[in-house]
Amino acid sequence: MSKTLQAIRGMNDILPEQTPLWRYFEGTVAGLLDGYGYRQIRMPIVEFTDLFKRSIGEVTDIVEKEMYTFEDRNGDSLTLRPEGTAACVRAVLEHGLSGGGQVQKLWYMGPMFRHERPQKGRYRQFHQIGLEVFNLDGPDIDAELIVLTWRLWKLLGIRDAVTLELNSLGTSEARGRYREALVEFLTAHLDQIDEDSQRRLKTNPLRVLDTKHPETQAVLVNAPKLADYLDDESRVHFDGLKARLDAAGIPYVINPKLVRGLDYYSKTVFEWVTDKLGAQGTVCAGGRYDGLVEQMGGKPTPGVGFAMGIERLILLLETLEQVPESISRQVDVYLCAFGEQAELAGLTLAERLRDEVPGLRLMVNAGAGSFKSQFKKADKSGALHALILGDDELAQQVVGFKPLRGQGEQQNIAWSALAGHLATCVVQG
Ligand code: ATP
Ligand code: MG
Repeated sequence: MSKTLQAIRGMNDILPEQTPLWRYFEGTVAGLLDGYGYRQIRMPIVEFTDLFKRSIGEVTDIVEKEMYTFEDRNGDSLTLRPEGTAACVRAVLEHGLSGGGQVQKLWYMGPMFRHERPQKGRYRQFHQIGLEVFNLDGPDIDAELIVLTWRLWKLLGIRDAVTLELNSLGTSEARGRYREALVEFLTAHLDQIDEDSQRRLKTNPLRVLDTKHPETQAVLVNAPKLADYLDDESRVHFDGLKARLDAAGIPYVINPKLVRGLDYYSKTVFEWVTDKLGAQGTVCAGGRYDGLVEQMGGKPTPGVGFAMGIERLILLLETLEQVPESISRQVDVYLCAFGEQAELAGLTLAERLRDEVPGLRLMVNAGAGSFKSQFKKADKSGALHALILGDDELAQQVVGFKPLRGQGEQQNIAWSALAGHLATCVVQG
């Protein structure tokens, strides 16, 4: 026997039982972003490998260990995108969208790929909704990004389960000064820190700050603090952000260890975290990246953005039982027809109803079948009502209207009155 075909580990099918929740989630976010004036952009899933090396940084976990990189038939090195910001900046530059200081408020959605160890909330193909703003450098826009996510958590019914963590990384000059101080301190304590941190000390010292290693954490208690190295500009920016969050009534905690995995952040960084999902608790993360566009070959252009992990947010909705009941039913009405004449009449009737009742979800029985088998299928479809067309109904130009859930008697309704009936009792009900 041949081996059963299987999907790649960490890459999941999203089955029909789950897609209503995905569509509800994606639709809610899209509607929210429309309401704030953001426009969608769609980038390719594959890019030149160099794009990610240059933007994310050579010595990050993503570029060092997590990318799906391959050579295509031309010998070019290509990579399945591990995140969206790099490609978004590339597209913005390529099409001149940020030229002349034009403000862009963009969002995107789609699969990302990272070769990580698959576990709950962590996959090799996962999905993000990301948002990027170009050419606005003030804390007002940082605040807007947070305000709109705060509203999203309310819409989704998960506001009580998430906490906002904030930090400022300062300008790159301030961070440079801090980096020197940190390296000096850690070098003096080299024998007390773990191997991974020793390596990071050489390649990307700030990342030592988010080590999970207890002994290194203990050493870090006495390390120089980034906050003490913040330049005035970054401090004013950070104060401006905090003042706005206070005004909007959004609670936050300052987390001085929050440095984020990617190299490109400056000033504001933030994460929305939950304690309801175990170890994979960050559902949305982002920050300001004022140096990135220039680093990628463009003119100096301030930028700020975030990405949320759709799988983790869906898991959170399920865990908190915040899945709206209305999304589970996908069929309103199921039409059963018995005999060839009835089937023909049923086909034209169904199409007329689709014309006349916008939003109606009508499934027409296919494959004929006895009364018993068609009713079984009608019931299984989840429909609220069955429409019945047999020879008698045909002769009288009526359909049998049979409630499938709960009470109510079967009644005959004239074809001419059916659209009106469905519009009131099905689509609005
Ligand atoms: P983590 O610390 O959990 O690895 P990250 O800092 O690598 O996250 P980002 O690159 O900032 O994550 O991506 C933004 C969001 O995308 C994360 O907060 C998370 O919700 C989601 N995400 C990241 N990696 C994965 C993954 N492998 N599987 C599922 N979701 C992910
Ligand atoms: Mg990660």
